[in-house]
Amino acid sequence: MSHRNPSKTSEFAPTWYEKTAIQAPVCLDSGSLNDTYDVAIIGAGLAGLSAALHLAKAGSKVVLIEKFTIGQAASGRNGGFCTTGWACGDEDILKMVGPDQAQVLNELSEEGLRWMRERAFSKNYASCQPINGCLTLSLFASEELDISKQKLTKFIRGPRYKSGTLDLTAFHFHPLNFLRCLTLDCLAAGVSIQENCEVTKIRSVVDGKTDLSFGDNQAIKVTAAQIIITTGGTGGTRFSKLARLILPIQTFITVSDPMPEILAHHIPTDYAISDTRRAGNYFRKLPDGRLLWGMGISALSAPNHQKINTMATKDIAAHLPELAKDMRCANIKLAYAWSGTMGYARHFMPYVGQISKNMFCVTGFGGHGMNTAPIAGKVIAEALSGTSDRLEAFGSIPRQATFGTIGKMAAEIYYQASQMKDAFKERLA
Ligand SMILES: Cc1cc2nc3c(=O)[nH]c(=O)nc-3n(C[C@H](O)[C@H](O)[C@H](O)COP(=O)(O)OP(=O)(O)OC[C@H]3O[C@@H](n4cnc5c(N)ncnc54)[C@H](O)[C@@H]3O)c2cc1C
Repeated sequence: MSHRNPSKTSEFAPTWYEKTAIQAPVCLDSGSLNDTYDVAIIGAGLAGLSAALHLAKAGSKVVLIEKFTIGQAASGRNGGFCTTGWACGDEDILKMVGPDQAQVLNELSEEGLRWMRERAFSKNYASCQPINGCLTLSLFASEELDISKQKLTKFIRGPRYKSGTLDLTAFHFHPLNFLRCLTLDCLAAGVSIQENCEVTKIRSVVDGKTDLSFGDNQAIKVTAAQIIITTGGTGGTRFSKLARLILPIQTFITVSDPMPEILAHHIPTDYAISDTRRAGNYFRKLPDGRLLWGMGISALSAPNHQKINTMATKDIAAHLPELAKDMRCANIKLAYAWSGTMGYARHFMPYVGQISKNMFCVTGFGGHGMNTAPIAGKVIAEALSGTSDRLEAFGSIPRQATFGTIGKMAAEIYYQASQMKDAFKERLA
C-alpha cells in the first residue's frame, strides 16, 4: 500500500539541483514497514540521514520518516558550501559554553567537515562534483585576512572586495546528489525509509515505548524505543517542545543562464566565494557555466521567484557591477530562483540532546549545516548506542525560547540592522 502524496511536493520551487540530479533512490513502501524499531527518526535531512546511518551501522533497527521527498528541504537546496565552524561565531561559543566545551565543539565541526569530504570525494559520491576551496572576502582591508586587494584580482574582479582568505580544506558540491548518495548508504545499511509521510502524532505507550502515526489519516503506525526529531526549520508547530526553541528563517538562491566566458573573466576561480558580513552574499560557478548567487534572509515574508530575482539582480550589480553589465549586454537571465527554510535558535547554536523520556532532538543548524548537521547526527547515534559521551558538549548550550512572531520580528530587525551597520561601516572605511 503506497502513501505517497505527490501534491505535497508542489510547495517547493524547482531548483537547479533537481534539474541536474541523479535518480532518486527508491525507498521503502509503507506496506513493508515493520511495526517495532529501536529508533524512529523524524525528518530525512542531513541530520536525520547521518543519525540513521550511524545507528544502523551500530546495529540498531532504524526507521526514518520524511514528510516530503528526500532533499526538498534545506539539505538538498542550499548553497553547497561545506566549511568548518558553526553558524555561531567562535567568540560567542566560547562565552556561551566555556573553553573546554568550545574546544570540543570546534573539533566536532572539523570532524564534520572531514566526514563530508571523505564521502563527497569518494567514487560512490562522484555525482556530487566536489571542488576544493572556499574563499572568504571582506569589504574592508583587513590585516587578519591574508589576501590583499591586489592579489584578489586573481580570483574576482569587483571594486568592493578589499581583502580575503582562502580555505583549501573547505569545498563546494551538489548537495542534493550528496543526499541521494547518503540515502543509498542508509538503505544499504538496513535503514527503513518512508518518504512523503508527515509524522503527525507521537504518543507514549507501555514499556517506555512510543507510537508514531503518519500517512494519510494517520493510517500508518510504528512503535519505537527511542525517537529522534531532526525536522530542521520545517518542523512547524507539530512538536511543541521544539517549536518554542527554533525559528524558521528563509534564505534565497538564484542561478543564472550558462555564461562560462563571462564568468571566466569576472570570477577567474573555481573556488566558492562568500563574504564576512552576517547579512552577506555567497556565490560560486556551477559546473555547467552558470552562476549560483545566494543572499538575504527573511523571518516574516516569503518572496516569490520574481522578487528573489529582483533582489539578486540588484545585489549582483551592487557587488560586481561589470559582471552585471556584461550579463545585461549578453541577455543572460536568472533562470532559477528558490528559497529554503533554515532552523535557528536565538544563539545560533543547534539543540542536540534529550527533550523528554526516550525522545531526542538534533536541530537548529541555521545557515551552517553541511558539516555540523552530519556530525551532530553521528554524536546522537554514539550517545544512543552508548559508545561515547560526546553529547555532553551540547549540554551546556542553553535552551532559549524564541517567542514565536515576536521572535520572528526581532530576527527581521536584527537582519536589517546588520545590513545598515555593514553599509555604514563600508561608507566610513
Ligand atoms: C537556501 C539555503 C542555503 C544554505 N546554504 C548553506 C551552505 O552553503 N552551507 C551550509 O553549511 N549550510 C547551508 N544552509 C543551511 C543547511 O542547509 C541546513 O543547516 C541543513 O541542511 C539542516 O539540515 P537538517 O537535517 O537539520 O534540516 P532539513 O534539511 O531541513 O531536514 C529536515 C527534514 O525534516 C522533514 N520534516 C519536517 N517535519 C516533519 C514531520 N512532521 N514528519 C516527517 N518529516 C518532517 C523535512 O521535510 C525535512 O526534509 C543553507 C540553507 C538554505 C535554506
